[in-house]
Parts: sequence; C-alpha cells; structure tokens
Amino acid sequence: MKETTKAAELSERLFYHKKSVYEHKDDAHIAAAYDYAKGYAAFLDAAKTEREAVTAGIRLATAQGFVPYTMGEKVVAGGKYYYNNRGKSLYLFTVGTESMENGIRISAAHIDSPRLDLKQCPLYEEAGMSFFKTHYYGGIRKYQWVATPLSLHGVIVKKDGSVIEVNVGEDDNDPIFYINDLLPHLGAESSRKPLGEAIPGEKLNILVGSRPFDNSGDKDSIKLNTMVLLNEKYGITEDDFLSAELSIVPALKARDVGFDRSLIGAYGHDDRVCAYPALSAIFDCADSKHTLMCVLADKEETGSEGNTGMKCDLFLDLIDELAKATKADPAVVRANSKCLSADVSAAYDPNFSDVFEKRNTPLLSAGVVLTKFTGSRGKSGTNDASAEYIGWLRRIMEEDGVVWQAGELGKVDCGGGGTVAKFLAEHNIETVDLGVPVISMHAPCEVISKVDLYEAYRAFCAFCRA
Ligand code: MN
Ligand code: MN
Repeated sequence: MKETTKAAELSERLFYHKKSVYEHKDDAHIAAAYDYAKGYAAFLDAAKTEREAVTAGIRLATAQGFVPYTMGEKVVAGGKYYYNNRGKSLYLFTVGTESMENGIRISAAHIDSPRLDLKQCPLYEEAGMSFFKTHYYGGIRKYQWVATPLSLHGVIVKKDGSVIEVNVGEDDNDPIFYINDLLPHLGAESSRKPLGEAIPGEKLNILVGSRPFDNSGDKDSIKLNTMVLLNEKYGITEDDFLSAELSIVPALKARDVGFDRSLIGAYGHDDRVCAYPALSAIFDCADSKHTLMCVLADKEETGSEGNTGMKCDLFLDLIDELAKATKADPAVVRANSKCLSADVSAAYDPNFSDVFEKRNTPLLSAGVVLTKFTGSRGKSGTNDASAEYIGWLRRIMEEDGVVWQAGELGKVDCGGGGTVAKFLAEHNIETVDLGVPVISMHAPCEVISKVDLYEAYRAFCAFCRA
C-alpha cells in the first residue's frame, strides 16, 4: 500500500501531465475566457478576408490610440503606431522605454484563409443559369465547398483608379451564392472516386443567377441580366473584373458550438484565432518596456509570397526604420529580438485518430500550443526552434499561469505543413510557433475551444511583458 502511494507521488512529480484548462483553472477564469471570446467572434464576422481583417484591425487599433506610421518618421517611447501595407497586411508596433537593441518582441499571425477567388473573366451563362468561374486559394478539400451558402467579398478597381468594395451574402437580407452538387441518385460513379477527385477545381462554379434580361430568348440573356444588375449596383462593366479581387467565402457567422457553448464554429479561425489575441495583447501590453510588434500577414496560405506576404522585405525595412529612428543598430535589434509565429495547429480528433500520434498532438481545451517544429517528412521546410528559446518561454508562461501544451501536426509520415516561422527566423530572430488547436482546419466551418483562445491571449501577454 505504502509503495503504491510512493509510486503515485513520484509519478505526479516526475511525469509530464497534460491537463485541460478546465482542470487547471477556476470558474472565474473560464467565465473570463468565454467573455473574451465574444470580442473574437465579432472580429471574425467583420474580417472574412485579409482586406477586411486589416480594416477591422485598424479600427480596433485606432480606438486604442494607435496612429498611422510613415517610413522615415520619428518615433517616441510610449508611441503606438500601425503601418497599413496595401490594405492587405498590417504591422502594429509600440515603442518601449528600453533600448531597441535589447530586441523587439514580435507576434506574427496571418489574416488570409483558404477560399475561392474569382477568375479574371468569371461570368458566363449555361443551361438557364449564370455562374462565376473560380480558382481556389490555399489548401481546400473541394468537396466541402459544394451545396453550402456562400458570400462574395472583395474589391473591384476601375480604370480610373476608383475602388469599389463588395460584400454580398453576410446581411440576412442579402442573397447568397452556391455551388451545385450532384444528387445521390446519380452519384454512384462519383461516390466511388477518391474524395480529392470527386469535385475537380473547374467544377467549383458559383451560381449567381437564372433570370433572363427579357423574354426574347436571346443567347446570354441571363448573363446580361446579371451584368445589368452589377452595373446598376457597382457601376461596372464586364472588363472591370479584369482588375478585381473577389473572393467566395462561407456565408456563415461565428456561432457557439455545443450545449455548453464551449466552442466556436466559424470560417477562418486559421489564423484569426491567433491574429485576434496577438492584436489584443499588443493593445493591452502597450506600456511594456519592450518595443512590441504585431504582424498580420497576407498570403500565408499560398506560401507567403508577394509584397503582402511574410517574405516581403517590408518587415526588415520597418525594423531598419525603427532602429534608425532610435539610433539603434538594426542587426543588433534583430539578433536580440524574439518572435512568436502565431498560427494554428491541428487538434487531436478521435474521429480521425489514425492520422494523429496522440502523445504529441495538441488536445482541444488543453491550452495554447507550442510547436517546436512544423514541416514535413524529415522536418523539411521547418524552423526548428531552439531548446533554449523554448525553455525561456516555458518559464515565462508558467510564471503567468498560462496553460500550454506541446504539439506537432500529426503522424510523421501522414503529411505536414508550414507557417511563417521560417521566414522570420532567417532574419536571425529567435522564433517558435505558438497557437490554438483547431478541429477541421481549412474547412468552411472550423471549430476552436474558447479556453484555448484565451490561453493564447494570455501567452501573448506574457511574451510582451516578460
Ligand atoms: Mn495558418
Ligand atoms: Mn492554414
């Protein structure tokens, strides 16, 4: 009997115990987490594309006293600034009281999500219906996008430079859009196909109309009627699609999931579930002695390329400008900077247990996830964070009582993924991935736990202040 007690005492002391946030925290903490989730849900509904996320981010930042920053401008300790990169990525920073050569604390999340983009010549008519052609953006499982309500978001830029904003399908009085699917009665052959082949990309055509312009029976009369309506509403002609960025996303608002309302189902948790807590942490920690930076990047889902992606030199330019403005050496600033690459990880899902390795996969509601490495196969394409940096993070998170867990994506040979981490680390910045576990990542409706969201916020705060 005595030996059992000794063994229990030793295993309590010597083993690593992953516990849920609900086991670690009291009711007041859980209530605070659920309350915090309300602000996040509102952000989700306002920010379904990177452009909308930048607009929503600037609105929140302005309310917190952040002001626009122009390159070359002087900055002052205590100052709160944002840099709007082409309306698609956003850099926020607060200038600390200590020398910038002690390093900047950087949180970098992305605000683009998988979706369907309209092609540049999208509109056509066939068999009594008008459609938009699409080209999918990021990694989607195409079968998930058919036979579900969709909305249209984006901009149309006319030749005179004027920008028309489009948002149709979110208001309850708006029409929605749709992708036709095959009826099961005729689906025998398609049902035998592998999931990835049943719905090819060129079948992801958006149903946008069925009423002809008049009763003449003329060819393309439905397409004409669609174009007439678009012309009346937006003043555009068909060639204006050539300079448009229009995206199809799920017409779904963020909703509580479950009888206990412990989860949130929404489009685009990846990666707004990290962008929002990173944002609110820089707001709430703006008085930190450290200089803080929050990056909300575009194009992560397509490889971080382009001038709004994390690979763009703008990140280095801003650090150079900040260093110059405070008479610091930018190389020293970067060498001493620390970064949380804030991105989601896949939560262990008992319905698909065959692709997960349970001991090393994040569990839902077990707190924010530190991911030492991402990548695929033999850690290809990963930033493998140093043990020293993770050791420091363990300490600061534990000092603040942040509930966190270690995790990686899934079974070693099952696939893989990447984040922006390696693009920050290659600038000589200590970087590790930290984020929220997600169920059904990249699906039109993904699910996260409210307590994980809140621990992510608390982790970013610990990082900004430590
Ligand atoms: Mn992501
Ligand atoms: Mn993703």
